[in-house]
Amino acid sequence: MPISIIGAGPAGLYTAYLLAKQGKKVNVFEEHKKIGLPVQCTGITTLHLKDLVEIKKEFLINKVNTARIYSNNNSIDFKLKKENIVLDRKKFDIYLAKKAKGAGAKIFLSHKFIKKEKDNIIIKDIKKNKSKKIKNEILIGADGPSSKVSELINKKNKNFWIGIQARVKIKTDKNVFEAHLGSISPKFFAWLVPENADTARIGLATHKNAKFYLDKFLKLKNIKQKDIIEHQAGIIPVYNPKLKIRNKSNNIFLVGDAAAQVKATTGGGLIPSLLSSKALVNSIINKKIYENELKKTVGKDLFIALKIREILNTFSDKDYSYLLELFKNKKIKEIIEEHDREFPSKFIIKLLTAEPRFFYFSKKLFLIKSFLK
Ligand SMILES: Cc1cc2nc3c(=O)[nH]c(=O)nc-3n(C[C@H](O)[C@H](O)[C@H](O)COP(=O)(O)OP(=O)(O)OC[C@H]3O[C@@H](n4cnc5c(N)ncnc54)[C@H](O)[C@@H]3O)c2cc1C
Repeated sequence: MPISIIGAGPAGLYTAYLLAKQGKKVNVFEEHKKIGLPVQCTGITTLHLKDLVEIKKEFLINKVNTARIYSNNNSIDFKLKKENIVLDRKKFDIYLAKKAKGAGAKIFLSHKFIKKEKDNIIIKDIKKNKSKKIKNEILIGADGPSSKVSELINKKNKNFWIGIQARVKIKTDKNVFEAHLGSISPKFFAWLVPENADTARIGLATHKNAKFYLDKFLKLKNIKQKDIIEHQAGIIPVYNPKLKIRNKSNNIFLVGDAAAQVKATTGGGLIPSLLSSKALVNSIINKKIYENELKKTVGKDLFIALKIREILNTFSDKDYSYLLELFKNKKIKEIIEEHDREFPSKFIIKLLTAEPRFFYFSKKLFLIKSFLK
């Protein structure tokens, strides 16, 4: 019996690739008629991506080596030892689809998961307007932040940000990406990620009124209507360690945004999705417990990112300005520039001990320290 994967985004496609490589029969069902569309992503990741997939010219748009962090009118530059990369998300997804197909997985486009009925799943062939019953060994929900598969084992997820961005014409330094902290984008941050010296992705995420804040931010960046190439938007789930990611019988699993496997600090879900896909496939093939496999790879960092986000959510603009001052400490700067932000567990203690003034935010930092012990 085949394994059915719902959703042909990075999580579904990478899981399909890894399972097919292990000789499993895999069917991927995607409701859209094309892979990678609509684009709902800024596509910036750390270089850790290359440990998971080969970085191909076909989907690599830009490399950035400086993170410029703003709070109010101040900013600080971090010269990253390991550059970050900017992807063409559509082409990245197409590349993953090729890999999955090459390994033997089948991908059915315009096929929407409707529901589960006993041992069958009901899939609607949108083009033919016909539903079919499919028996499967395992059902994997990689169907994104509004996952229908998740609703088989969880209540509907309501904790998310609305991410919104505009691709704009702008003269910019192609090596520098910006993050703007504070009330410019409440409970998240606003960003500018360059595609090249003339085009950038400018956006932000908030729990509400995202378009209002984006318009304000575009104005700050002096962007006029005529400079806007297109708008893109989507939902970013907030990581929730209590979310069920499998059922007891081990025949329903969730991965990627469907499992809210997104860093709550940055909203980055690409690398966590792929790492989680690896953990899931390892647990299926070697009959191990999925949650334990996740703990070994990405679980701890997702948890720490969530705790950091909870602390940041209490910050006023004044607190962010103070944080920026602390970042100017030479030792702190060096630690941030050297480490991959993908894995805060590897450097957060160093950071906290290098700058005692971090204990200004002490009560909640204690929570992170105690978790790491
Ligand atoms: C505005 C924005 C900017 C972002 N920027 C970044 C970034 O810079 N870096 C980063 O790492 N992450 C970023 N993210 C997050 C990142 O895009 C996601 O974490 C990532 O796409 C998760 O991949 P996924 O495969 O789990 O889900 P998705 O990419 O959402 O794929 C899910 C797929 O399932 C399909 N599907 C859904 N329901 C059904 C159904 N019932 N039947 C069949 N198919 C279905 C969907 O059509 C979709 O193709 C951003 C997100 C947003 C919204």
